[in-house]
Amino acid sequence: MRTQAAVLWESGTDWKIEEIELDPPKDGEVLVRLRAAGLCHSEEHHRCGDVPFAAPMIGGHEGAGVVEAVGPGVTLTGPGDEIVFSSIPNCGRCPSCAQGRQNLCDLAAGIMGGRQILDGSARHHLGDTDLTITCLVGCYARHTVVNEASVIPVGPGFPPEVACLTGCGAATGWGSSVYAGGVRPGDSVAVVGCGGLGSTRWSSSGRRHGSSGRRTSRSR
Ligand SMILES: [Zn+2]
Ligand SMILES: [Zn+2]
Repeated sequence: MRTQAAVLWESGTDWKIEEIELDPPKDGEVLVRLRAAGLCHSEEHHRCGDVPFAAPMIGGHEGAGVVEAVGPGVTLTGPGDEIVFSSIPNCGRCPSCAQGRQNLCDLAAGIMGGRQILDGSARHHLGDTDLTITCLVGCYARHTVVNEASVIPVGPGFPPEVACLTGCGAATGWGSSVYAGGVRPGDSVAVVGCGGLGSTRWSSSGRRHGSSGRRTSRSR
C-alpha cells in the first residue's frame, strides 16, 4: 500500500515527508494505522547527529493507533485493537522478560538496525531503497508494520494523544525517578525541565538526583 512517513536521510538535515510503499505484514507482524505520536528527544539526537542511526530511517517510537491487519501467527492482538507501541519490543517469554526486565528482551538485540525482527528485512520502501524504522516502530507515519512484540493493546476509547506517551516518555520517566533517583511514595519532588522526563529533580530532604541514571545519594 502507499502511505506517508517522515524520513531522515542523514544527520544534520530535516525530516522529510515522503510517499512510501508499505508491504503487508508477514509472520508475527501487524499493520497499524497511526492516530497520535509523541516527539521524543531521541529523534532530535538522530536529526542533529548525536546518536548514529541506520539511514534512511522513518522516525517515531512513541505512538498510538489501530491495528488494521495481522500476519500469520499473530496471537497478541487483532484487527480493530487500539494499541500503543513499546519503544523496546518485549516477547514475554525470554529469560529477561520472565524476570520482569522487558527492557532487556532478546528481541531488542537488533533495535538499532531498524529492520523486521524475524527475518531482518524491510517492509517500508521508497522506490528501490529500503527504509529502516526507529526502535523497530517508525510511527512518524500514517501507517507502519511492526512485530507484534512492539505493540500493547489498550482499552477502547483511550485518548491516543495520551496513550502514546506511555510508549517511551512515561516509562522512561518512571524508571529514571524510581530506579535511578530513588524517589519513593511520600517524597516531595520538583521536576525541572519539560518533556517526558524533566532534567533534574530535588527532593524535600535536599538530596539532588542527576538525570543521567547516576545515583548521587541513596541515604535516607
Ligand atoms: Zn523516546
Ligand atoms: Zn523477551
